[in-house]
Amino acid sequence: MNMKRYTQYMYSYPHKTAYGPLEGITLNQYLSDLAGAGHDLYLHLPFCETKCGYCNLFSVTGQGETAIDRYLDTVERQLRQYEPLFASANSLFTSLTIGGGTPLLLTEAQLERCFAMIRRYTRLARDAEIIIETAPNQTAKPKLALLKDAGVTRVSMGIQSFFDEELKVLKRSHRAKKARESLDLLMNSGFSRVNADFIYGVPGQSVSSFLSSVKEAVSFGPDELFLYPLYVKHGAALEQELNRGLVLDEDLAFRQYEAAAEWLASHGYRQDSMRRFVRPESPGGSREFSDCGFGSTLSLGCGGRSYLGNLHYCTPYAVTRESCLEQLVQYEETRDFCAVTHGILLSEEEQKRRFVIRHLLILPGLPLTAYRETFHGDAAADFPILHKWMEQGFLKEQRDCLALTEKGMGLSDYLGPMLISKEVRDKMNQWEALHGTKHNPIQREFKEL
Ligand code: SF4
Repeated sequence: MNMKRYTQYMYSYPHKTAYGPLEGITLNQYLSDLAGAGHDLYLHLPFCETKCGYCNLFSVTGQGETAIDRYLDTVERQLRQYEPLFASANSLFTSLTIGGGTPLLLTEAQLERCFAMIRRYTRLARDAEIIIETAPNQTAKPKLALLKDAGVTRVSMGIQSFFDEELKVLKRSHRAKKARESLDLLMNSGFSRVNADFIYGVPGQSVSSFLSSVKEAVSFGPDELFLYPLYVKHGAALEQELNRGLVLDEDLAFRQYEAAAEWLASHGYRQDSMRRFVRPESPGGSREFSDCGFGSTLSLGCGGRSYLGNLHYCTPYAVTRESCLEQLVQYEETRDFCAVTHGILLSEEEQKRRFVIRHLLILPGLPLTAYRETFHGDAAADFPILHKWMEQGFLKEQRDCLALTEKGMGLSDYLGPMLISKEVRDKMNQWEALHGTKHNPIQREFKEL
């Protein structure tokens, strides 16, 4: 089989690098997508202590309290402009996610301000799920108490490894001892759900050291574990080390994944996707993606994405420090937050792809009746490759869904990118041609299995 198993993580579609300039669009035209209940709110806080070696997220280091205050002033101005729209659409948000960056890098007063602003200018459902990301170095008792008081239901901690040598390779700022203390603190802080992230495929990491991190994590009892293969994309600090000869071993990464998936299954964990493993006693919980592919998400701040019907938008994709800082300046200088200037309008064909991609890669899988009702057609007829994947044993039909088999699940980062349309791939490749490097796999031609 000639293939690249770790091509790309398809957590959304289309990728931000396929976005481009938009003209003449305002949020007022998309009010119906924000009408009533059921929408998600996202606040991006793009500040970190140090930049992790693999990070290609919109985040910057070295921003002091004043710079963060200025950013929050801008978020408040954005919220004030959105408030009348929310009122006329009678919008009710059923979830709030605060991500970054490292949200807990903010002072307690700044964190309190975030929650107060959101509650003042938006309507959050009484039982809204409120999710926040944290990192071991920023996890301390007073901030966790503040989150609990603010109604946070779920905390996600990026640990990545319980071995200092691996953390150093990843350029994470925390050490294993701190990760243990912080996870223990978090587990004893009374949140409804806690999840922890780990990375495999790290140079110098063995199957047994990865398995040992996973087993240790399980001993703390988090509700979910997310296991990510290491990717080094354009602009990430580790890219330079790849240029100097550092090697990512895909076969070893896959053996680490297999060993962890097998061990977790034998300990009752339910695997929902290539990355998500749910503790046996944990309540059903939400899907990795909170919508059915069409729910609205409105982002606040700079760097987060909004999804309103066929309109997807955000600030232009930025990875390097210079380009992130440039975006931050532009964000603070924005006068009209209702004008949408950068994004993509999805055709019906692209909406079908999005529906398939977002459902297929996580159990229970692609709902066939829902697809038929939404698009008045048959998923496998629209995407003949799905037939082929069934023949190859990557997919199976179960309970009105097309679901990944165990073999297919391990191939998620190969199968997902195969569903990218030619138009979107061309746009992504144009972006890569301008900004990318030889290490970015999306530049390669996809080989059919
Ligand atoms: S991976 Fe997370 S913690 Fe690390 S630099 Fe990126 S946003 Fe910050």
